[in-house]
Amino acid sequence: MGNKLLFSDGFWLQKHVKCPSLSITYCCKLKTDSQKLCNFAAVKIVRTSFLPFHGFSAVNLLGVLFVHPGVYLSNEMMNHERIHSAQQREMLFVFFYLAYVIEWMVRLPMRGNAYRNISFEREAYANQRNLDYLNSRRPYSWRRYMKRARH
Ligand SMILES: [Zn+2]
Repeated sequence: MGNKLLFSDGFWLQKHVKCPSLSITYCCKLKTDSQKLCNFAAVKIVRTSFLPFHGFSAVNLLGVLFVHPGVYLSNEMMNHERIHSAQQREMLFVFFYLAYVIEWMVRLPMRGNAYRNISFEREAYANQRNLDYLNSRRPYSWRRYMKRARH
């Protein structure tokens, strides 16, 4: 079983069965045979219709991924969220959210989609298809995306 398979929703579904349920639909810890990838993983998945708010299907809060029930977690989506987990850890979480909100507010009056143009999101969207990205990613790589072309 290769690493790429471990990212599929199938893996998560397999694991849910064994995981103890919380009052919310479920919660599950990630285990992979690759510790390196595991270090950057979004560690928990919680399925709930309360989070995230309207318009989004998943949100990564402190490494816990809140997903609406029934949303398929593709490899790409999981990779996107893992990239956010890596960003959050290197920013000690609190500075990630501060920088995220500040950059979003700065970009609101600018041309294009403020959310998509946040450098954390740009890095995640630009690399989510590369499932090996986190193996070679350098810390603070999102900084390179601050000046890229707008969406
Ligand atoms: Zn994102």
